Amino acid sequence: MLSCVDEILKSECLSRSEIITLLQAQGKERTKLFTCAAEVKQKYIGNKVYFRGLIEYSNLCAKNCLYCGIRQSNKHIGRYTMTENEVLEAVRYAYQEKYASLVLQSGEINTPAFIDRITDMLLKIGTITHHSMGITLSLGEQSKKTLSTWKDAGARRYLLRIETSNTELYRKIHPQNKLHDFYQRLNTIKSLREANYQVGTGVMVGLPFQTVEDMADDLLFFREMDVDMVGMGPYIEHTDTPLYQYKNSLLSLSERFDLTLKMIAILRIMMKDINIVASTAMQTIDKMGREKALLVGANIIMPNLTPRKYRENYLLYENKPCLDEEAYQCKSCLEARMHLIGCEIGYGEWGDSKHFENRQDLTTEDTENTEKSLI
Ligand code: SAM
Ligand code: SF4
Repeated sequence: MLSCVDEILKSECLSRSEIITLLQAQGKERTKLFTCAAEVKQKYIGNKVYFRGLIEYSNLCAKNCLYCGIRQSNKHIGRYTMTENEVLEAVRYAYQEKYASLVLQSGEINTPAFIDRITDMLLKIGTITHHSMGITLSLGEQSKKTLSTWKDAGARRYLLRIETSNTELYRKIHPQNKLHDFYQRLNTIKSLREANYQVGTGVMVGLPFQTVEDMADDLLFFREMDVDMVGMGPYIEHTDTPLYQYKNSLLSLSERFDLTLKMIAILRIMMKDINIVASTAMQTIDKMGREKALLVGANIIMPNLTPRKYRENYLLYENKPCLDEEAYQCKSCLEARMHLIGCEIGYGEWGDSKHFENRQDLTTEDTENTEKSLI
């Protein structure tokens, strides 16, 4: 007999209530969800996993998000910014090892000096790698002008998580001021599309006050925004942050992990050709966390290229893994792990979002059709 989940998985376009049912699936129903997501992934994406070498450029941040370990008011960490040489060294390593893609991430700084430094670095990265690296930026909210300057300097993709699509919840997990405004963040995501970036966003799963309905709305938000990439991870508490006071009201770590896996699986079914990240936060909770995420729909991994001496100062949450490793150790460990789950590593390939490529093709087709009809 067909179960409710069987029926839902046949649906062309999942509704809010169907998503909620899937998020609550247990036992055999949960397995059916994961199997369906794995099939969709195999059909539309294949078994390749793409590496994005992660450079945690600086932990300086002008913001004070209530959940984040590198928020400006946390005085318990040493602040750092990598030198240009250190960044280019990490880039050379990624280039030699055929990672083909990089993510440059940091706290949010909007000063002209920071903006210029990033522009300069993008140009240098282009020169030393013969423009062969797909560069993703994750540098917080920036003006349209800055986003377009960085795009012109060589960036292709931008990751800016909305954190939660529920405006009330957003207010609860951020300070109440202009610097932490939901609509400002939303508008920046829209500006990314206008600047022709491959647009990435995402949320944390298992935040205090967050409900399963909120999570379903997050998935609907991604679909409505028609994003190209999504990075979702479990929320993990950090002692030196204001949200830590709610630690006793949180779901258990394994529940947060399980919900994140389901979010990934459902998203793969909803948005078949986007890129989905298997986040490091998954590995923090479960040693095989990223592998499990890849098996139910994710296709991107971000091996850490940050020099070891800085890693303990980029702790967004507690128990972040691989603090004592250098980049080369990360690589051999990942290769073995990917082999174990039958994933092929897309060395030398950008692994751009197929969703983005398909949209570009449609736009070109539209333009050609319009031109033809004008002739
Ligand atoms: N500053 C930029 C920004 O906020 O977009 C980029 C870097 S920020 C550290 C990257 C992501 O870390 C955030 O979007 C947030 O989702 C995640 N993060 C921060 N604190 C976290 C926590 N306690 N648990 C899980 N993820 C967290
Ligand atoms: Fe800064 Fe990003 Fe952390 Fe917010 S999440 S405090 S913007 S680094």
